[in-house]
Amino acid sequence: MGRIYNFSAGPAVLPEEVLKEAAEEMLDYKGTGMSVMEMSHRSKAFEEIIQEAEKDLRELMNIPDNYKVLFVQGGASQQFAAVPMNLMKNKVADYIVTGQWAKKAYLEACLYGKANIIASSADKTFSYIPDCSDLPVSEDADYVYICENNTIYGTKFKTLPNTKGKPLVADVSSCILSEPVDVTKYGVMFAGAQKNIGPAGVVIVIIREDLITEDTLPGTPTMLKYKIHADNNSLYNTPPAYGIYICGKVFKWVKKMGGLEVMKKRNEEKAKILYDFLDESKLFKGTVAKEDRSLMNVPFITGSDELDAKFIKEAKAAGFENLKGHRTVGGMRASIYNAMPIDGVKALVEFMKKFEDENLS
Ligand code: PLP
Repeated sequence: MGRIYNFSAGPAVLPEEVLKEAAEEMLDYKGTGMSVMEMSHRSKAFEEIIQEAEKDLRELMNIPDNYKVLFVQGGASQQFAAVPMNLMKNKVADYIVTGQWAKKAYLEACLYGKANIIASSADKTFSYIPDCSDLPVSEDADYVYICENNTIYGTKFKTLPNTKGKPLVADVSSCILSEPVDVTKYGVMFAGAQKNIGPAGVVIVIIREDLITEDTLPGTPTMLKYKIHADNNSLYNTPPAYGIYICGKVFKWVKKMGGLEVMKKRNEEKAKILYDFLDESKLFKGTVAKEDRSLMNVPFITGSDELDAKFIKEAKAAGFENLKGHRTVGGMRASIYNAMPIDGVKALVEFMKKFEDENLS
């Protein structure tokens, strides 16, 4: 069997040339006679890999010098605790809850201090982004938290909230590198790599230097202290070395493709193909407010659980994998991250048209 079109929300599709290159280097990385998987993280070869990965990411995202880039572990979920443990000096933080990942982060913060929900879209099953232009930001809030792209529900903040001067903390797991961003608008951004970058096991934290302090909450584990990772250039302990190496290759691929402006155009083009079809279809429909639609995760339904199941089964047989919606919401979801080719989206829409013709009664 050849490669299928993989619409998984994560771990997700990687650029084919990255996988091929990694395969070629598997037994002998650049004359070292070993795989990066077998290499000491203190070796010169690995030092070059991690330094170059950081350099390329900084270039791609235009990350200013007063921000640190950390490669850490523990999944994006670990950051739900690391953020309050490092940032909750006043033990107060404001959360905007636009889906399950933001809710999980909020619940985690409740373990460490007073976390307030200052806006939410739970009233309409997270199908929109609330107006965040004038929020009741707490005077003593240490930060305001968002999940910028809601992987499960398929919504995205098109405008960042007005945090009234408080640092913005954003979970960008499912939108990092999908379009240019102004890093200076954020205090902290973090992302699990397994969506738009690739290998699960790596988490990228981009944090403004003044937010990195010794003054963490009592009991903060050493491994969760941003300062430890910053002071040690992400080499305090053994990092997820092979994953970082693949991240570096993906950064090079994004650069070669033309950078984030080009990624944005490509992603808009892909998403438009799918959303235009959903808007016209007599069988399928999108589930979220049009103005808040994500470029990365596109949920849709037929309105019938039976037809949804039939579609997912037939799509799989035709080579379109992982189209089942998140287990908590059902329906379908096509995740169309950077590495999904336009042809994959076109082929999916053709398949959906055919399914519609065959199943419209
Ligand atoms: N945040 C977002 C936006 C996600 O989509 C996910 C996972 O899908 C997570 C956090 C959790 O990531 P992890 O499994 O790396 O902890």
